[in-house]
Amino acid sequence: MPIINIYDYDKIHNINEKRVWEILIQLIENDESICTCRDCILDLVAITLNNIPPHYQVNEEDFSEAYRKVSDEAILMQLINAAEIVKKNPHHL
Ligand SMILES: [Zn+2]
Repeated sequence: MPIINIYDYDKIHNINEKRVWEILIQLIENDESICTCRDCILDLVAITLNNIPPHYQVNEEDFSEAYRKVSDEAILMQLINAAEIVKKNPHHL
């Protein structure tokens, strides 16, 4: 049996992706000026994820706050900054 199984790669998760989505939901509930169309939301998440460090873990459920490399507040600030960028140059039609 090989030591490295390429099919195990899908067990590695950037847990910051999940955190960005969760914080984004809170943000759009409180800021009606943010366009929630597919194009704008995907741009917003992509910009935010490019501006925070990734945090890879093997098990998505085995997630401890103590190991977070970036705070919820820092993610929120990056989302707010990304929302301003998207508002100025939206890709929606
Ligand atoms: Zn839009």
